[in-house]
Parts: sequence; structure tokens; C-alpha cells
Amino acid sequence: MSGQNNLGVNDQQLLRNSSYINGSWQSAGTYFSVTNPANGTQLIQVINADIETAELAVEAAKNALALWSATPANERAKLMRNWFDLMMAHQDDLGRILTFEQGKPLAEAKGEIAYGAAFIEWFAEEGKRVYGDTIPAPANDKRIIVLKQPVGVVASITPWNFPNAMIARKAAAALAAGCTFVVRPATQTPLSALAMAELAERAGIPAGVFNVVVGDDAKGIGKVLTQHPDIAKFTFTGSTATGKKLISQCATTVKKVSMELGGNAPFIVFDDADIDAAVQGAITSKYRNAGQTCVCTNRILVQQSILDTFTKKFTEAAAKLTVGDGQLAGVDIGPMISKAAVNDVQQLVQKSIAAGANLALGGAQHQAGECFYQPTVLTQVTNDMPVAANEIFGPVSPIIAFKQEADAIAMANDTEYGLAAYFYARDIGRIWRVAEQLNYGMVGINEGIISNAAAPFGGVKQSGNGREGSKYGLDDYLEIKYLCLGGLDR
Ligand code: ADP
Repeated sequence: MSGQNNLGVNDQQLLRNSSYINGSWQSAGTYFSVTNPANGTQLIQVINADIETAELAVEAAKNALALWSATPANERAKLMRNWFDLMMAHQDDLGRILTFEQGKPLAEAKGEIAYGAAFIEWFAEEGKRVYGDTIPAPANDKRIIVLKQPVGVVASITPWNFPNAMIARKAAAALAAGCTFVVRPATQTPLSALAMAELAERAGIPAGVFNVVVGDDAKGIGKVLTQHPDIAKFTFTGSTATGKKLISQCATTVKKVSMELGGNAPFIVFDDADIDAAVQGAITSKYRNAGQTCVCTNRILVQQSILDTFTKKFTEAAAKLTVGDGQLAGVDIGPMISKAAVNDVQQLVQKSIAAGANLALGGAQHQAGECFYQPTVLTQVTNDMPVAANEIFGPVSPIIAFKQEADAIAMANDTEYGLAAYFYARDIGRIWRVAEQLNYGMVGINEGIISNAAAPFGGVKQSGNGREGSKYGLDDYLEIKYLCLGGLDR
């Protein structure tokens, strides 16, 4: 690609600049810029897909469905295994591309590549185990048989915070189930998606099975992907507000839908917790990806008797985090995705201080640049302040005191969200009581990082529905068909 920055990527073919549809790269169109959030510089110009291009992608996926769904599961698994191997072989380049467009520190970006690839490996195996069923029939002349079949063409829209893994998690389950797939990645981070497509092609995934549409007309392309009659299932990761709009659009053709939406994760530290472990767990869960994940700790609830000790240790640990360009060694927190994101976080912090919160650390833009925000700790926070009531999506830790176990549970559940929750305790009775009462899809107990390919990721309430990863994750891409075999009188 002449005139474009090579970004220090070894395998230049991984740097693609157009949509990948039916095994081909689009060659014409207008362009939009992808920029580096660490310094605002343009990384690359990408051809801007329009609504017609999105329709072509759906058509390609529809045409590829018959062949892919009829390919034996072990053959599909071999191709997916190739894809996994290639992603891991190119982990360094893929991580570098990811950091350039998204900002997270390089070590975290490479971690995301391994995490995303793990879903492809895991579902490649699990796709061989899509078992049907036979059920005892109410009469001797009948047999009841249950088949599980791919739902069909799957469309998805993914966010910028995990440009590789949010696609891999969906595509892996879809392809393993025998579905074909179209994704529209976030405009801020299309390069990771396109690099995945390049590797899918090298892996031998047939044309039309995995398609990527990059275009900045989110609404227009979104309408195609939520309303096209040839799409059987729509899956989305993003904000609850956008998810609600997309669910209603999917209603017009009664699509099967799964949604990974926003969160407001409580992180509860009880008086019997290992405080040092809790501090470490909270730091990791809060500050990774600059606080921009839907399972990031949003509120830290600490029992009154250990409040001072925890707060002191936690604030000291947060103060040690290094902020800077994610490509630099030793950086813990990279830029946020945009200046607007920094402003939103700053608003939440200032409004909460005005409402009585105490600023213990940070509280302003970081000198590294306009997209950077200081690791921030607020104390004397109450559950109704803006930083606690809203999803922060930034490196800010509100600390809320509580007296009794029941108070912590009530506060934790007092939100429309229900994605991830965390708590630290050692009393086994308390661990069961609290785990069972938290209204969340996922609960980390003495653990701040919970997601992996073998586990069911997903939320309840307005955090969404459906699960990604694990044996349950395949169900979202399968239809159950009941066969009644009659006329069998002996
Ligand atoms: P964020 O504001 O953090 O980007 P969103 O939920 O708005 O979170 O975005 C998640 C994904 O959804 C992105 O790829 C974005 O481009 C896309 N998106 C946003 N609004 C719409 C819409 N109305 N229709 C279709 N896609 C949308």
C-alpha cells in the first residue's frame, strides 16, 4: 500500500485497507482515516464500505452457507485450527496493529490476540460435539429425534475496546456451528478485523464464510445487518443504549439475537478478605484497557472496618501505574479511545466531587496527551453519585463504604446492569451466600480476571442475553429441530 505507514509490522499483508467480502478485498471507494489514539496521527486510510457493500457481504454469506454447513465438523475444525495457529504465529504483528489503532499497552494487546485465538481453538474442538438427542415417545409407533442445525447467516456489530477478541468470540462459535458470518467492526478499529480476515483466507476458510464490512455509516450498515431477511441471527457487543435500538430493528424480521451490553461491576471487599489480594485484583480489574471494558470494576464497595487499610493500599498501587503510549515498554495504561471519552469521564468525576466525593488520586487529563486520563481514586462515594450510578468506561475508582453484608449485596444489585461482579472474602458460608444473591451473569470470587474460552460470558438484566464461550456459547448459533418419525407399528 503505497503512501501508507508500514507501522513496523513484519508481515505487511496483514495491513489491509478495505472490506473483505466473498474472499476478495474491495478495491474502490472513498476513504476514511484510522488514527492512533496515543497521538492523533493517521495510521492508514481505509476504503469506506457503503450499504450496497454490506448487502454484498450478506449475499456472499448466504451463498457460502450450503457448502459450509454441509462440511463435516471435523473438516471445519481443521480449517479453524489453521486460523488459530496463524493468529498465534502472528501474535506480535497483530498485537502491534491492535495497539496502534486501539491504544492498549502492547502486552495487553498481545494478550488479547491469544485470548481471541483461544476461542477459535476451543470452538473448533467443540463444534465436533454438537450432539442431538432421542427422546422416549408417548406411543410405540413414533420416535422423537432432536437435531441441532446451524441457524444460518450470522451478522454482527462489534466495538473498539477489543478489536480482535469481540469478533473472534462470535465468529468462532458461528463457524464451528456451521454458520457463515458478516461483521462490521467499529470504525475506530477496523485493522485488527481485516488482519483476521487475511489470516482466515490463508487458513483456507472458504470464500463467503467470514466477511468483514468496514464503513463509517454505522446506522445504514447497521440497518442492513439487523433487518436483511437473509440474516438469521444478529449478535452485538456494545453499549446498552445502542443494543436496545438494534434489538428493536431485529424485531422486524424476528431474528435470533444475542447481546453483550454494558455493565456496572461492583467489586466488594469484605472484612475477612485477603486485603493485598483484593487490592491486586481490583487494580487489574479496574485499570486494564484504561478501564474501557464492560467487565471492568465500576464501584469498589469496602466494609467499614477495613476501609482505611484497603483505601491506602489501593491508592498507593494505583499511583504507581505508568500512563503513556501503549507501544512503549513499561506502560500500564494507554490512551482512552478519544478526547470525547476523556471528557465524559472528567464530567462524571467532577459531578461526583460536586456531590460530595473526595478526590484521593488523579482527577484530570494526563500530561501524556489529550486522550490520556490519570488513574483516579475517589473516596466517600455513595451509590447514587454519577461515578457509581453510570458505567464509567475509564480509569476511575469510586470507593464506597458499607457496614453489613446485606448492605453490600443491596447496593451491588441496585443497578439496571447485571454483567460481572467481583467479591473478596474467605468465609465459605459468606462466599456461597453472596455468590447466590448477586444478580449478575458472572461473579469473580477472589479473582479479578474471569473471562476465558471455556467459560460462559454474558449478562442478565439490561446487560444483555446469550452467552459467548463455553459449551453454552454454541447454543446461540444452533437451532433445535424436532423430527417425529411415525408409522412404525411393530
Ligand atoms: P461506543 O459509543 O462505545 O462506540 P456503541 O454501542 O455506540 O458504543 O458502539 C458499538 C458498535 O456499534 C460500534 O461498532 C458502533 O459503530 C456501532 N453503532 C453505534 N450506533 C449504531 C447504530 N445506530 N446502528 C448500528 N451500529 C451502531
